[in-house]
Amino acid sequence: MPALPSPKTIEADLRVCAKGDSSLQTELLTADSAGISRAAEIIKAGGLVAMPTETVYGLAADALNPAAVAKIFKAKGRPQDNPLIVHISEFAEWESLTDSLPQNALLLAKCFWPGSLTVILKKSPRGPGIVSAGLDTVAVRLPAHPVARRLIAAAKTPLAAPSANLSGSPSPTKPEHVINDLSGSIEALIDGGDCAVGVESTVLDLTGEVPTLLRPGGVTAEELRETLGRLEISPAVLDRFSGFPPSPGMKYRHYAPKAALTVIHGSREQYISFLCQNAAPGIFALCYSDTLPFTPCPAVSLGDRGDPRQTASRLFTALRELDRAGAQTIYSEAVEPIGFGLAVANRLLRAAGFRRIIL
Ligand code: AMP
Ligand code: MG
Repeated sequence: MPALPSPKTIEADLRVCAKGDSSLQTELLTADSAGISRAAEIIKAGGLVAMPTETVYGLAADALNPAAVAKIFKAKGRPQDNPLIVHISEFAEWESLTDSLPQNALLLAKCFWPGSLTVILKKSPRGPGIVSAGLDTVAVRLPAHPVARRLIAAAKTPLAAPSANLSGSPSPTKPEHVINDLSGSIEALIDGGDCAVGVESTVLDLTGEVPTLLRPGGVTAEELRETLGRLEISPAVLDRFSGFPPSPGMKYRHYAPKAALTVIHGSREQYISFLCQNAAPGIFALCYSDTLPFTPCPAVSLGDRGDPRQTASRLFTALRELDRAGAQTIYSEAVEPIGFGLAVANRLLRAAGFRRIIL
């Protein structure tokens, strides 16, 4: 099996890139008071700072400064019609973003904030249109990560913060992922270590008659249904989107490694014999740790079967590792879309462009 990059190589990359390899030098900040106040200064001056959150690293700018928000789209290469999530540090900050707080939004905030739930609400006309990509709604989240919250409070403004990666590539769950994608195009990165959850927040649309799950994440569909009573799950969560997207992000290629990824549905034995029939140079497996010893080709682990939280925290790193190891084709074991597994299955299928083989 080709050598995967050791942590040492990654650290070396971090140092080289942090020196800056383009016109803008990305400052590497510590996750302490000094780092956070420097980051707040940059945000107030209209700059971009990658910050740790409990889900993935976010690329933050002052949500009320349209020129700063425009820089996010440019740095990420994000399509202009894909709106951003606005992050707040106190409940009261909703007021600058929306004029109508439905009852169920208050209930959800009480149950799941701070945390990895984003709610979509009717937007106040006072908020800048660019954050919402011209829609009349706004996505809001109060994150749990103390560094993110301290930064929002120190900047004294809500922060627009999509994932801090190049658009389309796997989301960043480690500081070196941000450096690899954005060094030289953003002002600073706060190094907060690894993100605990590893997949992005749950996105829940509260603007229609029935609350609708647009993106599964850290807060599960089961938890939401228990709290709200009623919940619809957008069919685009587990299938290729067709028709008009309820969330613009659904129509874009996402989380994808450079290699062609296919998700293989079947028993563990069927998966192993599929690999045996298809093993060839450039073919890699992405599989649970109990399958790993039996793969006939190089393989990267999804962690323990039946532990979707562990799989989530490894998934995006695993996809980046596979690219670095030179994978051309990746065959992944499927993840059961139950509980938190729904979020992991969604990311894996989207990374595969919904390419799957049912054995
Ligand atoms: P990211 O910030 O990269 O994690 O992506 C945020 C996701 O939330 C994308 O899929 C967006 O399309 C979606 N989103 C953000 N704001 C809205 C909104 N107002 N209406 C619908 N979807 C939204
Ligand atoms: Mg993203």
